Amino acid sequence: MSLATASPKPAVWFLTGSQDLYGDAVLAQVADNSRRIAAVLSDPAGLAEIVWKPVLTSKDAIRRTILEANADDDCLGLICWMHTFSPAKMWIAGLDALAKPLLHLHTQVDVELPWASIDMDFMNLNQAAHGDREFAYLETRLAVPRSTVVGHVSDPRTAAEVDVWIRAAAGRQELRRLTVVRFGDNMRNVAVTEGDKVEAEHVFGPAVLSFGVTELAAATEAVPAAAAAALAADYEDRYEVAGELRRGGARHGSLLYAAQQELALRGFLAEHGAWAFTTNFEDLGGLRQLPGLAVQRLMADGYGFGAEGDWKTAVLVRAAKAMGAGRPGGASLMEDYTYHLVPGRERILGAHMLEVCPSLTTKTPRLEIHPLGIGGREDPVRLVFDADPGPGLLVGLADLRDRFRLTANEVELVAPDQPMPCLPVGRAVWAPAPDFRTSAACWLTAGGPHHTVLTTATDAAIWTALAAQTGTELALIDKATTRAAFEKELRWNAAYHRLARGL
Ligand code: MN
Repeated sequence: MSLATASPKPAVWFLTGSQDLYGDAVLAQVADNSRRIAAVLSDPAGLAEIVWKPVLTSKDAIRRTILEANADDDCLGLICWMHTFSPAKMWIAGLDALAKPLLHLHTQVDVELPWASIDMDFMNLNQAAHGDREFAYLETRLAVPRSTVVGHVSDPRTAAEVDVWIRAAAGRQELRRLTVVRFGDNMRNVAVTEGDKVEAEHVFGPAVLSFGVTELAAATEAVPAAAAAALAADYEDRYEVAGELRRGGARHGSLLYAAQQELALRGFLAEHGAWAFTTNFEDLGGLRQLPGLAVQRLMADGYGFGAEGDWKTAVLVRAAKAMGAGRPGGASLMEDYTYHLVPGRERILGAHMLEVCPSLTTKTPRLEIHPLGIGGREDPVRLVFDADPGPGLLVGLADLRDRFRLTANEVELVAPDQPMPCLPVGRAVWAPAPDFRTSAACWLTAGGPHHTVLTTATDAAIWTALAAQTGTELALIDKATTRAAFEKELRWNAAYHRLARGL
């Protein structure tokens, strides 16, 4: 999975607050200690480098450091910690200017109090307990969005919460530089896949750009036969390929065409610096097949994708890929398709026409060709598999006219009750939390979309942090959800998010 960055490894800046009052010796100690804290925090997932910055003791140094962070494209965000007391009026100008995600780390150097030797010097050096309260008062007073993490850095819970915030910040950064290529427009008459692209670019960052599918069709035809043959041979090594599609098989030509589509798509997206894209089966121009295999393989490489012109879901899939980098599991476009409604054993069967990402399985997918009931083109080639069992999260993005809402549902992916030999697509079967009736009722009440990202590499905590960092509502359906509380939450959220935007 790629983070698609040509720039150096992104950084999280570690800022330590103090003041001049303590004298050079104490400030040197503060610097040493905060360096150690920053080193312990160093991001084990490797998404970002924790970069220690000199201790801040004046209003001007604070403001300048934050302005530098704002201007640095490779800075994901800031971690702030008040090792000593740092009178917070010094932070007003800096926090007013802050345009990056902020994590307020509430920690101290040592785990244990030195009961026998503690004196006032020790107390003055180790006073995050009230230094951070002074800082948090100002953050709250200025309504600075931030995540607050409490605990010693040696506590794995602290590291886990910092990792959540870094992953969300990496997702936010990825969205801010994302280009989404759309081939054609939305599926005709569909409502939920529409949305305000200007507002989306303002809130989340992606540039959503349209191209004629004829350009892709022409690029597909122009792929050299030798390149397509080499890629098709790679498919034969990598997947369990149906005999008719293998070299020498009756339908090998269809596989070669799918390989041409993949190479053309990769080239087109690279040319436009795009890491997400959409297609629309109603608008295929000169394409002979609806792209199935190509879309699946591009998603597996970290590209976002939405079907039927659904650029919002393409954005979510890309965000899931960026935030889940390095973790087991995957992410895919998903669609709630069909139900198994046996009481107490309800299941949701999710799939799509073709475009489900094989990152959801650790088994070897089958590569097959079958007719597609709609679209009126040649039979498309696709990967067929069952998603691995385990915990997952569905996230959908809807445009509510005056703002966006993320709706999310924690689910448990399960093995199908029985094999589904007549369903030749990648698919997932899940039991939603807290139970089917509550989940579906809440999703419908929230107006959540039928297209989602299904992610098994990122969890609700990461998406909650991303929502906070982008100022977006996240309506989460989890094991604690009740319909009554959820409906009230939506009403309160509606008021909050309108007020939070200002008049
Ligand atoms: Mn669909």
